Amino acid sequence: MHSKLLIWTIEPSFVTSAPTHIPVDSTVRDLIDPETDSWDAGLVYACFPIPIAQAILTIPLRGREEQDRLVWRHSEDGRYTVKSGYRRWLAGFMQEKGIRPSGDAKLWKAIWTMRVPPKVRHFMWKFARAILPTGVKAAGRNPRWSDGCPFCSQTETQYHLFLECSWSCRVWRGTVWERVFTEHGDTCSMKWVEKVLKKESSDVVESWVMLLWAVWKERNAQLFNGLKWPEQEIVQRAMTILEDYRQNQGPEEAAPDSQPERRWTRPMEGYIKLNTDARIVANEGIGLGAVLRDHQGRFLAAAAKRVRGPYEVEMAEALAAEFGVQLAGQFRFRRLQLEVDSSTLVEKLSRSQEIHSEVGTICRRILSLLQETDSNPRSITHVRRTGNGAAHIMAHRETQWDNREVWLESPPIFLIDQVRLDDVTSSL
Ligand SMILES: [Zn+2]
Repeated sequence: MHSKLLIWTIEPSFVTSAPTHIPVDSTVRDLIDPETDSWDAGLVYACFPIPIAQAILTIPLRGREEQDRLVWRHSEDGRYTVKSGYRRWLAGFMQEKGIRPSGDAKLWKAIWTMRVPPKVRHFMWKFARAILPTGVKAAGRNPRWSDGCPFCSQTETQYHLFLECSWSCRVWRGTVWERVFTEHGDTCSMKWVEKVLKKESSDVVESWVMLLWAVWKERNAQLFNGLKWPEQEIVQRAMTILEDYRQNQGPEEAAPDSQPERRWTRPMEGYIKLNTDARIVANEGIGLGAVLRDHQGRFLAAAAKRVRGPYEVEMAEALAAEFGVQLAGQFRFRRLQLEVDSSTLVEKLSRSQEIHSEVGTICRRILSLLQETDSNPRSITHVRRTGNGAAHIMAHRETQWDNREVWLESPPIFLIDQVRLDDVTSSL
């Protein structure tokens, strides 16, 4: 792998500095030490300016079994989508212009995660941005169009249509959502939405959103087809659509099978539990920790290592799990039960085939290593941090950079108390 990837001669080149020390047609493979299958750090630092060298060294190398492929790093599954491209562009644009992401991020997230049909969410997004094509907006674009409300001919703004218009008042007045209009209504649509989100339960919010959408739909019908439902029926129909949607969606989120354990528990007989954890060492790298114990709570092995590079939490957790499984394999421990305190890692391991990012690659490697040790990849468990104390301590061990420390048979002094404590609480 990497033998076909040219460093400089691809247009546009990913590396902007001119080549030094190695030929211009060098491939990525040339930067990898074939003995250890890891980056030749000395060479990388010699060839590139420090920030680029550091960026290169943080790219994980995963053996030879994975084929090279292009990955779009700004989406989780490594595939490019217009949405992720737009987000990426917007983030870059805002950074360039010195625009800080506004505090509205929460608002948009709340809108996109509402439990209403997607088209209603989309409508709400436009509503909050005040870009619905009302009369005022239409006339602004083409002066020949009327800015009048199709019901009462007054100037049609969003505020007018949804709050002032005598027709829409007849729709919502007397309903249980009347309060949401009269108490929170605001000429600034975004403020209105914010107030409602802040003050009302999600159930009320969603009903209100459906109602707004139904009013908008009816307004369009009135404008374009002249169709009209009696006002009460508009509310009724909107609520029926919401009810249908909710029933087909099932519970809000797939409820987890069970709450993760708060304490460390012994593995089943015949199994070995492997706990792993990671921590970020500010501006420097990450610490990885792993602890192996048997079904009687006996200590078998522990290891710690610090790796340089600005890894993110998720990546660090995955690398820690990989570190632990490798350790177990190396010392011939079999039938492992991997346990971590990161629910996202557990989730990613369960669907790693779909994730074509760096984290996905590591997850697949963890699973294949687990299989090599006769472990059931399905027995990966999630534990609360309080139950992952031993691995946590190992991850905080200040080892020398890139040097692994391993303890076999008896735990290091700094781990004894935690191992004892786990053993006591696990038998409670
Ligand atoms: Zn009107």
